[in-house]
Amino acid sequence: MPQSPSKKHGTAASQANAWNVDDSANFYQIKGWGAPYFRINDKGTIMVKPDPTQGQEIDLYTIAQQVHERGMEYPILLRFPNILEHRIKLINESFQRAIEQYNYQNTYRGVFPIKVNQQRHLIDALVDAGKPWQYGLEAGSKPELLIALAAMSDQKGFIICNGYKDRAFIETALIAQHFNNTVIIVLERQDELRLVLEASERLGIRPRLGIRSKLANKGIGRWGDSAGDRAKFGLTTPQLLNVVRTLKQHDMLDCLQLLHFHIGSQISSIEPWNKALREAGNIYGELVKMGCKMGYIDVGGGLAVDYDGSKSDCHASMNYDVQEYANSVVSIIRSACDHHKVSHPIIVTESGRAVASYQSVLIFEAIGESEVERDVPPPAEDSHDLLRSLWATYQSIGPTNLQEVWHTANSALEDGRELFRLGIIGLEEIGHIESLHHCCVRSIHDRLKDIENIPRELAHLDELLGNIYYCNFSLFQSAPDIWAMEQLFPIMPIHRLQEYPSQKARLADLTCDSDGMIETFIHSNQTNPSLGLHAIKPNERYLLGMFLVGAYQEILGDLHNLFGDTHAVHVKLTPKGYKITNVIKGDTISEVLSYVQYDVDEMIESVRQQAEDSHEHGRMNIQQLRMFMKHYEDALQGYTYLQGN
Ligand SMILES: *Cc1c(COP(=O)(O)O)cnc(C)c1O
Repeated sequence: MPQSPSKKHGTAASQANAWNVDDSANFYQIKGWGAPYFRINDKGTIMVKPDPTQGQEIDLYTIAQQVHERGMEYPILLRFPNILEHRIKLINESFQRAIEQYNYQNTYRGVFPIKVNQQRHLIDALVDAGKPWQYGLEAGSKPELLIALAAMSDQKGFIICNGYKDRAFIETALIAQHFNNTVIIVLERQDELRLVLEASERLGIRPRLGIRSKLANKGIGRWGDSAGDRAKFGLTTPQLLNVVRTLKQHDMLDCLQLLHFHIGSQISSIEPWNKALREAGNIYGELVKMGCKMGYIDVGGGLAVDYDGSKSDCHASMNYDVQEYANSVVSIIRSACDHHKVSHPIIVTESGRAVASYQSVLIFEAIGESEVERDVPPPAEDSHDLLRSLWATYQSIGPTNLQEVWHTANSALEDGRELFRLGIIGLEEIGHIESLHHCCVRSIHDRLKDIENIPRELAHLDELLGNIYYCNFSLFQSAPDIWAMEQLFPIMPIHRLQEYPSQKARLADLTCDSDGMIETFIHSNQTNPSLGLHAIKPNERYLLGMFLVGAYQEILGDLHNLFGDTHAVHVKLTPKGYKITNVIKGDTISEVLSYVQYDVDEMIESVRQQAEDSHEHGRMNIQQLRMFMKHYEDALQGYTYLQGN
């Protein structure tokens, strides 16, 4: 069990001296969530191994600095296309092994759900990396279908069309069936069949159809409602039977070729998988027996990511790995088909999170700490009794009276606030009392490590002491799921990891929103309300990494407080080292202003007239006018985040 700094025995000084990079590795759980891509090296920085099948490594701290030296400010999103490639390979090879092991008589073909990360450079890299596997794309909307059709130009992959569809969507997909790719239109609602039949007749094209089943077996956790009777998508059993009957009437049973289900995202336990696969396998067998052509079974997304590295079934983790998942899918579908005596279908998966998460790391800077009292002077002789007795209490702290001091300090604080309310003591004195109270709490906290049985009321002093590190990024733009669904992402410093992290802090972002705060961190198989960090040095940027943010975060991010897209940089391995292949500049202020319909030229003109007016009336001299206009115009072209001092 890894130990937190506060639980490690010995004095703070000896802890600090004995601390090494292995302690940091345990403390931040990097082996759990980071292997095989991320590790800490002997110098105390993080190394990235974008292609674990070969040895090359990149120092994350060095690359962050190099990008910064090229004039890009933090926050910077680093993407590693080699990681993406490795994930695709890992999933494909796992299915390959499962197919051999279970003597499965057909193949595996994955598709990437575009909604997980639509960024063009990422889709390009993904399509490229997927070529050896004929990896395809899944589109859940019209714009995504347009992306899929353009991106897969020279590749025989699958294009699976999910989501609600209108006439134009269906007609586009139908005509695209004449391309080289296999385009499959999945019916999400019974009503879509009517649109498809009409379009098919109009165009004289027989559709290649899939059908999405609302399985009775739901997933678990936050996204578990993607299946089950109350799910938003898919057809119930009676609806499914209706569709089959209608197709039969139209002599089109050969058009129905794919059975699809999706039980939710981040399925953290293998159990719901096994149940859902058994159910789907039986539906598949029945559909074939009813005369549908079939040939494909699509088990959707949901393959999880171990964000906290605990290998458990908690929502931020998973109690299985990619190989076990592939084994389950292949073996259960095989058993069901053998049971129904139907031939084995091509297996399709739509894993998004498991493919895209690992490749992106957000690098951001902690720019300052909240001020905390460390030393408080003794009160003056003539100060209020309450203040002098609290001072005496503070002086008396020892290993045997911690709980008593805690009670006394709390009631002194309460009494002090009452006295201030009544006008008996002044602002100076209540300020002094608050500082002393804080020092008592800190001192109690520091002594807890020497105590065998910590009283329950003292167990959470960390939270009270809660230092805050202010960070140059927006949670809402870069990691919205922390805010929206309390998702956990691994966060840690990317350097100084040979040093003892003596500070404990929560992280605050730049927005003026009290929700723009990270207060839950992964920590030895549980969560912690603060993160162990190093004291910020005056002349060094303190850089943190937020890992595994490649899925959903980029596109769900929003413009809260008008913080825009961050810079994104692609780093690719070369035979000799690595190369920065793409630099995608983040939004400028004028870009985000144009999203909310401002006309930048009009704005400049408006402030210029006001400045001229002030100058004319002698309130502003010409240097001030010039400097003001320069700042205003430069800022419009600049980054939306803080840009250094
Ligand atoms: C969102 C979605 C996916 C991707 O799910 P992950 O959990 O990211 O793998 C796959 N298929 C469908 C239909 C989806 O809606």
